[in-house]
Amino acid sequence: MAPQVIDHKGGVWSIAVPIPDNPLGHTLVHLLETDRGPVLIDTGWDDPDSWDALTAGVTACGFSPADLHGVLLTHHHPDHHGLSARVRETSGAWIAMHDADAAVVRRTREAEPGQWLDYVIAKLAAAGAPDDHLEPLRAARAAGRGRKPPGRRAALPDRGIEPGALLDLPGRRLRAVWTPGHTPGHVCLHLEEAHPGRQGGGAPAHTGSGRLFSGDHLLPGITPHIGLYEEPAEAALDLADRGDPLGDYLASLERVARLAPAEVLPAHQHAFPDAVGRVRELLAHHEERLAGLRTLLAEPLTPWELARSMRWNRPWEQIPHGSRTIAVSEAEVHLRHLVKRGLVAGVGADPWRFQAV
Ligand SMILES: [Zn+2]
Ligand SMILES: [Zn+2]
Repeated sequence: MAPQVIDHKGGVWSIAVPIPDNPLGHTLVHLLETDRGPVLIDTGWDDPDSWDALTAGVTACGFSPADLHGVLLTHHHPDHHGLSARVRETSGAWIAMHDADAAVVRRTREAEPGQWLDYVIAKLAAAGAPDDHLEPLRAARAAGRGRKPPGRRAALPDRGIEPGALLDLPGRRLRAVWTPGHTPGHVCLHLEEAHPGRQGGGAPAHTGSGRLFSGDHLLPGITPHIGLYEEPAEAALDLADRGDPLGDYLASLERVARLAPAEVLPAHQHAFPDAVGRVRELLAHHEERLAGLRTLLAEPLTPWELARSMRWNRPWEQIPHGSRTIAVSEAEVHLRHLVKRGLVAGVGADPWRFQAV
């Protein structure tokens, strides 16, 4: 199959790298030409077909996979970081990631499968999950089958990405912008060079400043999942003292809107011009959702009960076990944010119970 490559001009290409069995379809890996060789932004899912699509794409851009100079990761998820090790083996490229995501990779690699299950079971019990949800997890724990946390074999990065700094890429002006929320170390990368679409007469196709590689932070038609990553020690803290990833995400949206890039090059779907408009839409969506949750919390609810009453893409009864666990963590993310804003308060601790104030 011919590689799906788009030339975005000015030494920037995107390569569609398939994600097997996933409705997202593919990751858009970006290739940036530098004076020291091509650099990839994200790499794609670790799968033989995905690797073939990536290398065919690099070749179609006019480079050899062996010449790749470096890998910049927007975040640690496997559809972005999966093929990094293979790129490093093939070319000797360095791999760079923000420290907060590198810490998640390190923690996940070191965790014993049993430890991971203990943590999930304790969290779900504190969230008010019923026994029929906990039972399969307890049985797996007792049988020593411990489900492996995702990403146990992910490559360790060999460089950090420092927020606010220009990256060491000869011939390019690319600045890292820390955008925590989807993951704690998510970064967008702002190419501060004039958009090539604005040069050469004609009406400018784009207005604004430069181009933004937005990873999963800002996508044209998807609201990214807000991730709950915590050190096991953090899970023991009072809810008000824990992190607020949704608050971080909303602040990160404001941060990229202030950059007002002329074009956004996201890691899924397609490039789009109006970053500020898309940020406004997402902020409005989240405010609406938070208001809806506050209404549900007129009576005290556990995170499990809140997850059950939230609106999902199908009725709760049809949501599979693993997705219910994710739904509960999404409910907790929203609760933490409402508590931080003083709109909701904890009214019980075993299990946690919350109510609007
Ligand atoms: Zn992601
Ligand atoms: Zn992704």
